Amino acid sequence: MTSNHPATSLPPLLSTLITANHILHHHNLVDGYGHISIRHPSNPAIYIMAGYLAPAVVSCASDLIEYHVSDGSPVDPSAGKGYSERFIHGELYKRFTGINCVIHSHSEAVLPFMIAGVPLRPAFHMAGFLGTAVPTFDITALYKPTDQKDMLVNTTHFGAALASHFASPTAPATSALPDNLVVLMRHHGFTTVGESIQDAVFRAMYTHINATVLTTAANLKSSSLGDGVERKELDLLTKEEAAGCRVMNEKTADKAFRGWIEEVRAVPLYINEMAREEGERSLNLD
Ligand SMILES: [Zn+2]
Repeated sequence: MTSNHPATSLPPLLSTLITANHILHHHNLVDGYGHISIRHPSNPAIYIMAGYLAPAVVSCASDLIEYHVSDGSPVDPSAGKGYSERFIHGELYKRFTGINCVIHSHSEAVLPFMIAGVPLRPAFHMAGFLGTAVPTFDITALYKPTDQKDMLVNTTHFGAALASHFASPTAPATSALPDNLVVLMRHHGFTTVGESIQDAVFRAMYTHINATVLTTAANLKSSSLGDGVERKELDLLTKEEAAGCRVMNEKTADKAFRGWIEEVRAVPLYINEMAREEGERSLNLD
């Protein structure tokens, strides 16, 4: 993939992180909830994400907080309130050293798959990264009787358990990249990862779109519109097709991201003071 994250200096990366918050909001991947983080480009033991703000209104560097990957504590002890679910992000950075961006979403297109118990599989060529099976994380198995059962991944213990679902059962305790790029979260949403912001946003976006396409296809198949036509199983990507499409996805994600940047720049709701300060250079991904 066209990952430039490790070689990117911090200010333009923070500007892109702010814009990515806006992109995810603009496309209904996040509302008042849900979040995106990045690993610090020069200190892999730190990750950065917005403080306790709705993603649409994140606008400047002071809206962002740095956290230690080790335990999710803020680098600056006087930092303001943060997201209680930042442990999703920290534990993924801890387990997968090649991951530089994490996105967590409560996508209303994806949630029905867990409620209905229907596997989320790639329905078209933009979702090959879903592979043949998307795992589901069920936090309820981890609860103690006295726990508040709110589904929030708000401890390192819960975060590590979620991160383990991105790896195959035989994977080592840490590795560069995960075996699975998306994990569903029962009664909650989904999380995806990337080597760059562009990778992760692409995967979040097309996990959401693929869920909509698949739901529409399943409804159409069960409708009366096809009367008189021989019914067959849903025509989903094969394993080989998913693998091939994933390669294509990873080569082209940056093009889509450039378009999404321009979309949110045209919407007055979204303010990125860092982009204004840096001008066009801050949004030049080359
Ligand atoms: Zn959540």
